Amino acid sequence: MNKKRFLFIGIMLLIITISIGCSDNSEEEGTEQTQSQAEVEGLEDEESMEEENQTEADEETEAEETEDFIDPATVSANELGQVMVLMYHHINEPEDTWVRTPENFRRDLEELYERGFRPVSLVDYASGNIEIEAGYKPVVFTFDDGRQNNFNMIENSDGEWEIDPDSAVGILIDFHENHPDFPLEATFFINGGTPFGQEELVEYKLNFIVEQGMDIGNHSYTHENFNNLSAEELQYQLGRLNNMVLEYLPDYEVNTLALPFGSRPHDEELMKYLHQGEYDGVSYENIAILEVGWDPYLSPFHQDFDPLKIRRVRASEMDVDGVGMYDWLGHFESGARVPYVSDGSSKTLSFPKNLEDRLGSSLSDSKVLQPYEPKE
Ligand SMILES: [Zn+2]
Repeated sequence: MNKKRFLFIGIMLLIITISIGCSDNSEEEGTEQTQSQAEVEGLEDEESMEEENQTEADEETEAEETEDFIDPATVSANELGQVMVLMYHHINEPEDTWVRTPENFRRDLEELYERGFRPVSLVDYASGNIEIEAGYKPVVFTFDDGRQNNFNMIENSDGEWEIDPDSAVGILIDFHENHPDFPLEATFFINGGTPFGQEELVEYKLNFIVEQGMDIGNHSYTHENFNNLSAEELQYQLGRLNNMVLEYLPDYEVNTLALPFGSRPHDEELMKYLHQGEYDGVSYENIAILEVGWDPYLSPFHQDFDPLKIRRVRASEMDVDGVGMYDWLGHFESGARVPYVSDGSSKTLSFPKNLEDRLGSSLSDSKVLQPYEPKE
């Protein structure tokens, strides 16, 4: 999303807020609620439209504001709450520590959908560009190791290739088609060699993922433990993988990294090569670095948010020691952990007033802040 446009809209919203007046105006609030209600129901409420009418000059920007504005308190918006970055590996039979069955993966999607979670891309999460409807919670899907069962193709009786409906990509696409309000967003972290198996189909698969709006991430060229690698070796691991993807997708930028084994170089000095480096004359840059991790991570607007140290949640039920996805879903519901809840607009940043001191990442600078008193 264009930063200048953000700023411009932010400034316009500020001017409007000032011109309307910041005092409690229940009539104004009532109008806005009527308007958003009408929007939710897809109705054209002429009366509320009339009440909306301001001066001619205001009309366009006013429409832009009301189109997005939903009173954050009515949806308990909390854009300083936490986000689950889910970590999957195999999608296969039978269920195991690092294997989720197709049936269980479908159940995960259904559960997340029913509980009001909506997928956002890892890059959008890391850059604070979360665009989902008001009252919904963002979730990020990631798959490590580029296994064939993540994206398998099968030849039908006419000799045509079709996506295996039991592979991760097949399941995600099917779920999205049946739930259009559940966007197709996921990042596949691959290694060198033959990502997703089936050598003759690698180019097709990588292109397909990107065309569908999903992403390819860096999981190192040979899945090496990073603890004791040199600067050259680290840049080989990350740069060579980056260059391999460029051969298939010359215009695509791999800019996310899932650390193999969650490992980082012991030498602090070498940490910078995870973020940026160069191999064979081509530079790379990762704007998000993922740990193996155990728990939901911070809002991108939280003062302690570090996009280069994003923790993940294991999306499984076996051997998760109380820190799997379903445990965290339970903690979100009990209030032991507080999830990120969207206010419906990526231009504004809404949160209960008492959390104001947690705000602080530079990503919040371009947003219109909307602290509010939660309703009892
Ligand atoms: Zn791995």
